[in-house]
Amino acid sequence: MTPDDLAFDQRHIWHPYTSMSAPLPVYPVTSAEGCELRLASGERLVDGMSSWWAAIHGYNHPRLNAALKRQIDAVSHVMFGGITHPAAIALCRKLVAMTPQALECVFLADSGSVAVEVAMKMALQYWQAKGEPRQRFLTFRNGYHGDTFGAMSVCDPDNSMHSLWKGYLPENLFAPAPQSRFDGEWDERDLAPFARLLAAHRHEIAAVILEPIVQGAGGMRIYHPEWLKRIRKMCDREGILLIADEIATGFGRTGKLFACEHAGMTPDILCLGKALTGGAMTLSATLTTRHVAETISNGEAGCFMHGPTFMGNPLACAVAAESLALLEEGNWRTQVAAIERQLREELTPCRDEPGVADVRVLGAIGVVETRQPVEMAALQRFFVEQGVWIRPFGRLIYLMPPYIITPEQLTKLTRAVREAVKNPAFFRA
Ligand code: PMP
Repeated sequence: MTPDDLAFDQRHIWHPYTSMSAPLPVYPVTSAEGCELRLASGERLVDGMSSWWAAIHGYNHPRLNAALKRQIDAVSHVMFGGITHPAAIALCRKLVAMTPQALECVFLADSGSVAVEVAMKMALQYWQAKGEPRQRFLTFRNGYHGDTFGAMSVCDPDNSMHSLWKGYLPENLFAPAPQSRFDGEWDERDLAPFARLLAAHRHEIAAVILEPIVQGAGGMRIYHPEWLKRIRKMCDREGILLIADEIATGFGRTGKLFACEHAGMTPDILCLGKALTGGAMTLSATLTTRHVAETISNGEAGCFMHGPTFMGNPLACAVAAESLALLEEGNWRTQVAAIERQLREELTPCRDEPGVADVRVLGAIGVVETRQPVEMAALQRFFVEQGVWIRPFGRLIYLMPPYIITPEQLTKLTRAVREAVKNPAFFRA
């Protein structure tokens, strides 16, 4: 990697949510192993992000690599229309077995955002097929569901700048974000605005869509499981579908295999992605009940109207099946519990810093919310100098390391966070 390569990158390659006229610096990663990213300079960084919730087993995992290599030698890709293959069948068998019993029908797609589009389209087609078309979704503020237009229409209106798309974006219904905290008392008053919106629009709402327990990119907020029980009841009473977006929370991250389990709740439609492949490739799955699937299939269209080119990509399915096999062995439970204990112990002291507004921990997720937004470039540089990879945004510095992280590596991450929040230079005035 030469300085010229980096100059080319800055001039020609768009990075996530980044300006093309004043791009932030990027750090060249040339390889990764276990819980460490290796930079072109030779420095090694302990990874605190799991590449945005995905790399739960760490990088360059021998079993994931072997599954990929086996599949490459068989077939890397083949169309899914009129064709099936052993990798998709093996993966879907596992998904049907590990998710709640009612969720039997799996739609494979390419990314989390598309899984959300698919879920929303399923809900719309369901009502269309019932001869009672409905076109609105009810959700929480501070949610995040992806960057495509359907998904954006249920993201927090301020965070995802709905003002930019006015007139183009469907206008959905937003209840205030949950206030009752996961580890606090359930406050019945929390429910009222949501219940009012649902009642006022009960004949228009196709589905409620939410991120169970943890609102991720929209604020890293962790809320009370009673919410899910109550929303399930309200939806059942009105016949409204419930979509759980577990793209971030799925596969053990919150201490349960799926976050809905904290409330014993089964959604009608479940979106999975990110850690589905152990972070090796992009793949998503949207699961639903036989009732929803058959209602759609018996409607005017006679089928579900979706079929991406790379649907069921064999390489992605093969590595996902192996990642789920690793999860089935069960070590994640003790790993995530240990990470949770250590995050609580080592991040809680941040509460004493005047610049810190809140500290929240659940499973292998640790969040330090600051009072002022971070100075991204300066703080990122500091973290790299400390030998850690932590990517904060807004007023949030958060850790969600691979489950295989060692206590020493995790301490390196939490120490860097504790040092960072002490230094006002890393925060906007
Ligand atoms: N839903 C949630 C809850 C997410 O966290 C994300 C990704 N951050 C998405 C959907 C979109 O997934 P992708 O980026 O793979 O399109």
